[in-house]
Amino acid sequence: MSPDQLRSYLEFYRDLGVKDIYRASSAPVKPEMPIPSLAPDGDTLLKIVEDIGDCHRCALSEKRTKIVFGSGNEHAKLVFVGEGPGADEDASGLPFVGRAGQLLTQMIDNTASKEGVPITRADVYICNVVKCRPPENRTPLPEEMEVCGQFLFRQLMTIRPKAICALGSTAAKALLATKDGVTRLRGSWHKWRDIPVIVTYHPSYLLRPYNQNAKREAWEDLKKVLHYVYD
Ligand code: URA
Repeated sequence: MSPDQLRSYLEFYRDLGVKDIYRASSAPVKPEMPIPSLAPDGDTLLKIVEDIGDCHRCALSEKRTKIVFGSGNEHAKLVFVGEGPGADEDASGLPFVGRAGQLLTQMIDNTASKEGVPITRADVYICNVVKCRPPENRTPLPEEMEVCGQFLFRQLMTIRPKAICALGSTAAKALLATKDGVTRLRGSWHKWRDIPVIVTYHPSYLLRPYNQNAKREAWEDLKKVLHYVYD
C-alpha cells in the first residue's frame, strides 16, 4: 500500500468514527478470514470479489443466502450506494432487484430519458454498504458497516466515479461519517474523499404512499447528479 493509499484508508476509518482501525472488531471476525490490504495496487472489482470470498467476517454471513457484491458498469461515472440487500437481493445475489430496485431502475431510466441524458441503469454501478442481508431488513450495525466498509472503499477507489449518489441515511453515514439524516443532507453537495456526493431518499422510503413530496425531491436530486455527471 502506498503512503497515499494508507492515508486514505486511515482517513476513511477516522471519518467513520472508528478510533483504532487495528483493534479487533466486536463482530465475530474469524481468524481464517484475514482482512486484506485496502486499495492494493492494481485493484479490480474481480480481486475484491475474490478477497471477499465466502465471507464470514461478521454475523450477517450466518443468515445470508448470497453475497450481493454490486452490479453495473465497472467504469461507471456514477455509483449509487444503498444500505444492504433485502430478501430479493439475498436470493438473487444482485443489488436492487426487488420493489425498491424496480423503482430505482425506473427513476434512473425515466429521469435520464426525460433529461436527455443518454444512459440507463446498466451504465451506472450499484452497490450497498453491507453485502449480506441484515435479518428482518434491520439497519446494519456499526461493526458490520466497519467490516464490510473496507470492500465498499475498494469498490469506490477502483471505479473512481465522477459522483456518488448515497441512497438513504445508512449510505450517507458510511460515506460521510455524519449523523445527519437525509432531509438535512439532501439538496447540497458533499464529498467522499475528492468525489462529489449527493444524498437522497432510499427508494424503499419513496414506496410509502404518504411520501409524495420526498418523491419529487428525489427526482430533483437525481436530475442534479445526472446533469453534473453526464453534461
Ligand atoms: N435496499 C438496499 O439498500 N439495497 C438493495 O440492494 C435492495 C434494497
